[in-house]
Amino acid sequence: MLVVQKYGGTSVATIERIRAVAERCLETQSQGNDVAVVVSAMAGETNRLLGLAHEIQENGNDREFDVIVSTGEQVSSGLLALAIRAMGGKAQSLLGHQVKILTDSAHARARIRSIDSKALSDCFVAGKIAVIAGFQGIDEHGSITTLGRGGSDTTAVAIAAALKADACEIYTDVSGVFTSDPRIVPTARKIDRISYEEMLELASLGTKVLQIRSVEFGMKYQVPIHVRSSFHREPGTWVVPEEEHMEQVLVSGVTAVRNEAKITIPRVPDVSGVAARLFTPLAAQGIVVDMIIQNASSDGTTDLTFTVPRADRKRAIEILLGEAGDLCSEDRLSYDDAIAKVSVVGMGMRSHAGVARRMFEILAEESINILMISTSEIKISCVIKEKYTELALRALHDGFGLYLPVDKRPAP
Ligand code: ASP
Ligand code: MG
Repeated sequence: MLVVQKYGGTSVATIERIRAVAERCLETQSQGNDVAVVVSAMAGETNRLLGLAHEIQENGNDREFDVIVSTGEQVSSGLLALAIRAMGGKAQSLLGHQVKILTDSAHARARIRSIDSKALSDCFVAGKIAVIAGFQGIDEHGSITTLGRGGSDTTAVAIAAALKADACEIYTDVSGVFTSDPRIVPTARKIDRISYEEMLELASLGTKVLQIRSVEFGMKYQVPIHVRSSFHREPGTWVVPEEEHMEQVLVSGVTAVRNEAKITIPRVPDVSGVAARLFTPLAAQGIVVDMIIQNASSDGTTDLTFTVPRADRKRAIEILLGEAGDLCSEDRLSYDDAIAKVSVVGMGMRSHAGVARRMFEILAEESINILMISTSEIKISCVIKEKYTELALRALHDGFGLYLPVDKRPAP
């Protein structure tokens, strides 16, 4: 078998931890597997490096930023290769350019275009464990690129796809993917199996276990991903194609994000072209609009409410006032930063009615007012006041019976 293992920052945080990882890699190899290991930088290192660069320059989408922040993984990959050798094993470190992880040139958020598996198969033929620096690649000009925060997950899944690995194990400091954040919801349970689609929704809506792009990669190339802890031996969560996702789970998880703000423009003319005029300049400036609500009009005007990343709220309003000042003015336009989006995700929603109704009921029982609603095939999201986030998560989690094993949960 061929196994790709990825170890996150806390798993390689100290020399002691690196030795424990080395042991685990050797054990996997001794069971008859070819092993490729992807490492993150030691915990805290990427932030430290970013801090240094930010002391000189604010904007991080820069070639030199990637030269700086990619060094964290260079260190951890070298240390792990050394540790494996010190235990009598064979290992070789490989940087992004040595595995030819070719990306586009979007620094700090590059996308992988191709991987040349030759260097890796050479390692395996020589009986070596390949220890790959995560997070980094190289563009067509030979510049170092990085894949965005958490990008080592994507390195690992992309390598697993390129090698057609039997599994991609993502080792982290939590035991797997949970039905909700266990720090907020004490009754949260570890999920045994989840589909790529659900994982993608959960990751996009606040569950920070896997980088979103790694799940997209996994789904595209059907790589079985096993998210598990490097601190113990228990199996974690398998992220797999839907067919293998046996249990008919109605709701898999509840999650929340608090990084959005909502903007309301009241009484815009209810004629064609207005939404296009408001949202075109925002898009042109790279501001991603998430939810949008437009009310039905009775007097020829309509209220428009939408959400943007909280960090972009100020700029979004400036752009609107500048580019569409006839549709909105400073005294009419209003915003709210203290909001949260809580979401319920589950494959079973596709075939079952009543999940939305139950979600609204549960929030109502807690007297939590819903400010906005949006739905997709497998998720329902509600915007609420931020101060109710914890209460909403706990109520929804327990209201849908997620504290129970899958087969014991009540119908909604
Ligand atoms: N070291 C990088 C980060 O902290 C990449 C990763 O850990 O996956 O974002
Ligand atoms: Mg990570």
